[in-house]
Amino acid sequence: MQDDLIEKLIEQFRTLPSVGYKTAQRYAFSIIEGKEERAKRFAETIIEAKEKIGFCKICGNFTDKEICSICQKRNRKIICVVAEPKDVLAMEKVKNYDGVYHVLFGTISPLEHRGPNDIKIKELLSRIQEDNVEEVIMATNPDVEGDATAMYIAKLLKPLGVKVTRLAQGVSMGSDLEYADEVTLSKALEDRRQL
Ligand SMILES: [Zn+2]
Repeated sequence: MQDDLIEKLIEQFRTLPSVGYKTAQRYAFSIIEGKEERAKRFAETIIEAKEKIGFCKICGNFTDKEICSICQKRNRKIICVVAEPKDVLAMEKVKNYDGVYHVLFGTISPLEHRGPNDIKIKELLSRIQEDNVEEVIMATNPDVEGDATAMYIAKLLKPLGVKVTRLAQGVSMGSDLEYADEVTLSKALEDRRQL
């Protein structure tokens, strides 16, 4: 048995995704054995991030500003629609993508009782009307829910005259955007097809 406080620290690390007991133990010892300054910076950054990071008013992605740096600088006439904030990071591996994003915060999933009104589709519609958007690239994951969401949005946008495309799905494309490498994603973007 460890002393209580060490155990408490290990338990905190264990609350993080994909961290088992052994890894949590390694993290805890690393903090205890490291410099005090490092532990302080670590703890303060967690608190500061939690306090200051919110949602971008335009794309919905996490940011510590009112409008994220991608929405501030890039071409707002092309919107790449993703399910989760982590998918923005994945797509950003594609160096020559100059458009912006829209985070849905989920996909349509009848099994999990999640309908179109439970994800950020309304927000996407108003962006399309306000910003004269030319193309919407559906980059939800190539699985049942991701495909259903892409098809639903494509149908919804058709009357608005916006071009809607979907990332190509090569054989090398994994089931999750986040595990795809830069080359695969660049190719998937390049070969996107119209819905
Ligand atoms: Zn943004």
